[in-house]
Amino acid sequence: MSGNGTVMNEWKFREQMCEIGRRIYNKGFAAANDGNISYRLGEDRVLCSPTRVSKGFMKPDDLCVVDLDGKQISGKRGRSSEILLHLTIMRARPDIRSVVHCHPPHATAFAVAREPIPKCVLPEIEVFLGEVAISPYETPCGQSFADTVLPYVKDTETILLANHGTVTYGTDLEDAYFKTEIIDAYCRILLLAKQLGRVHYYTDQKAAELIQLKPKLGIPDPRLERGLENCDLCGNSLFRKGYGEPSPEPKVFVHPKIAGEQKEASPIESHLTPLGSEIARPSATAPASAAGRLSGSASASPNGKAQSGALDPEALVQAITDQVMQALNGAVK
Ligand SMILES: [Zn+2]
Repeated sequence: MSGNGTVMNEWKFREQMCEIGRRIYNKGFAAANDGNISYRLGEDRVLCSPTRVSKGFMKPDDLCVVDLDGKQISGKRGRSSEILLHLTIMRARPDIRSVVHCHPPHATAFAVAREPIPKCVLPEIEVFLGEVAISPYETPCGQSFADTVLPYVKDTETILLANHGTVTYGTDLEDAYFKTEIIDAYCRILLLAKQLGRVHYYTDQKAAELIQLKPKLGIPDPRLERGLENCDLCGNSLFRKGYGEPSPEPKVFVHPKIAGEQKEASPIESHLTPLGSEIARPSATAPASAAGRLSGSASASPNGKAQSGALDPEALVQAITDQVMQALNGAVK
């Protein structure tokens, strides 16, 4: 579309931007006046949210129009202070029409922890997001802040901004916004799963199957261009090396491959154990204390199965029964 779209068309995009603003606010992705949204109306005309207005309560004529350098063309309110981030993405990616920046709490938690987004966990993430980058921290608003995304901008449409929030972009307003919704839901699921215990990963082979589906859905993926056989699909990231500082290192969602747990693991064992697998983590207090007290007798069980720290359940039951019987005998005497 060129810069001569009709007034009616522009009004439609203004209404849609207000609607996306309401979704962002109602989802808790932007507190108070946080966050900003943009839409490329024409070659050098970009519609954007105004500064110091809650994204949940924008009206179509609150919105501003700027050129691709950020100079305000129209609007009764000042343009968003973070518009340079949006325009930098649009200049680097002519295919991108819309950019959404906000602070969705679960994804922002990963950006604060600088924890890379793990792959090979949820199939739909592989298909609809692909790899997610974390860009280095910079003071918001200026051009040097905007430039932090440049190394990643061609290889992903979902970027975590270190210690700040997220930026997602796409071919229209909803496409750009949906990526924010997807990354925050994914980060929420990861945090919940982690609280339950383990995060399990599917294999490189299964990841390749998903990535090969993408062309049929019209979704490009840089890993296909590089050749899947040259990519470490699950255990490493496109963005971990060679993208400068910081190179985020996984601390919590460490893939077994990165952790060096390359011993032949059964599918059930190919999980991650948080912060070092040497720490045995009892699953509940009562059995744990029983296991603690009984570990001596359990490891001395005749079949010798309980020596590696994993108690043989049969030996454990037998040991408990023995202790109960001893206690009862003691009480009777
Ligand atoms: Zn921000």
